[in-house]
Amino acid sequence: MKQDKPVILLIYTGGTIGMVRDLKTNALRAFNFENLLDKIPELQQLNCNIDTVSFEKPIDSSNMNPGYWVQLAEIIETNYKAYEGFVVLHGSDTMSYTASAMSFMLENLTKPIIFTGSQLPVGDLRTDAKENLITAIQLASLQENNTPIITEVCLYFEYKLYRANRTTKINAENFEAFASPNYPELAESGVHLKVNNTYLLKPKPNKPLKVHKVMDTNIALVKLFPGISKAVMESVLNTIGLKAVVMETFGAGNCTTEAWFIELLKNAISKGIHIINITQCISGTINMGHYETSSQLKEIGVISGKDMTTESAICKLMLILGQQVTIKQFKAHYEKALCGELS
Ligand code: ASP
Repeated sequence: MKQDKPVILLIYTGGTIGMVRDLKTNALRAFNFENLLDKIPELQQLNCNIDTVSFEKPIDSSNMNPGYWVQLAEIIETNYKAYEGFVVLHGSDTMSYTASAMSFMLENLTKPIIFTGSQLPVGDLRTDAKENLITAIQLASLQENNTPIITEVCLYFEYKLYRANRTTKINAENFEAFASPNYPELAESGVHLKVNNTYLLKPKPNKPLKVHKVMDTNIALVKLFPGISKAVMESVLNTIGLKAVVMETFGAGNCTTEAWFIELLKNAISKGIHIINITQCISGTINMGHYETSSQLKEIGVISGKDMTTESAICKLMLILGQQVTIKQFKAHYEKALCGELS
């Protein structure tokens, strides 16, 4: 029977938000999530019921990897029918990667998955954890006619809700630690909780949730810089088992026109290695062919990452490689938006 209040599953993976400071030693340690309501009694005022589950051994998010992503996706899959929404507590360092990965791994979502974390632990006097947690839960429980309003993977931090796969961590100490440079905020928390409905992804209600669990990590990330050597490029492109490279180029997708550089990329592509072009600028998009310094990339078959973040480009690459799309279909598949990750 349907309960009158939405039920939200709070999943703790690790990170500062779930820690308390030992006042004697000043060290941070994970607190027992069963006692969440004691730590944050304000949660009782929310118009939802909350269940909690934690990774058996919570991790600092710098230790995150696709194995943990599958673990998280499976927790959501197992509990998908029983809950109206999910809030994932995660360290902020790699939160944009995990949240982007979930957006690709969980296909046909009809419920909200909201990631949040904090810069200060929950018990600290000036903590940002309480506001982030409380509002993330509120957003996950927003409903209209008994149906969730948000039906995608999001990241909530410091009064703003973003599409997860558009975010990147921009600050290691400010409370405003995330940005979504190429896509507007989905919601803002002020006196009112203002949801920008027009920017939300529309759900496909008749399709069942499909969870993709194979992420292929035979990839590399190369950030170009003036003076990058042939030896470095060669050694990356000759890596045994390498299937694809995300290449962070200059501006709108530009790189050196030196013959050795283009030749190396061309050779790699002829061996079936996919090269994805994304910009190292904070915002904007790839436009190969706009300058002479990107025309050759277009000619040799480099794939455009358009205005994707590095985090999304990497996660999408792992996912599509895991699906064993043919080399011929790969470019078209990669350049298409799967879940709002590119414009
Ligand atoms: N190093 C921590 C982590 O990412 C920082 C945080 O929790 O925000 O797990």
